[in-house]
Amino acid sequence: MMQLDNLYQEVILDHYKNPQNKKLESDNDAQVHHINPSCGDEVTLGVKLEGEKILSVNWDGVGCSISQSSTSIMSDLLIGKSLEEAAVISESFLQLMQSKGSQDGDETVLEDAVALAGVSKYPARIKCALLGWMAFKDASVQALSKKTN
Ligand code: ZN
Repeated sequence: MMQLDNLYQEVILDHYKNPQNKKLESDNDAQVHHINPSCGDEVTLGVKLEGEKILSVNWDGVGCSISQSSTSIMSDLLIGKSLEEAAVISESFLQLMQSKGSQDGDETVLEDAVALAGVSKYPARIKCALLGWMAFKDASVQALSKKTN
């Protein structure tokens, strides 16, 4: 079992038990399905845009607490942001996950996602934490290209 700060453990468990935006909508601009075979995590994620603004991030999934809570936290964080802001937040989270435990994360940028900082010490779990974020990136690129085509 991973040793995470108790407060952070609570944030992760809270999002796992009460996932945010975990209800797929039928009118997404793009929807993707991503899997993490090494752990068995799955996420289906939809995005709705209005111009460059993220109107909705909605999803469904199964898997470990890290993958599901990370997707929940991300959806909360990115809804209402611009795609540019979302890219900055996603890059910050990716850097945190690649930090091998050397960073705490910038809470002003990442908010609740800093709770996942400890995951960066466990290489096998980083893909769990990144699953939803990669799905968002994929879906938002597809949604954007549909709108501009
Ligand atoms: Zn997992």
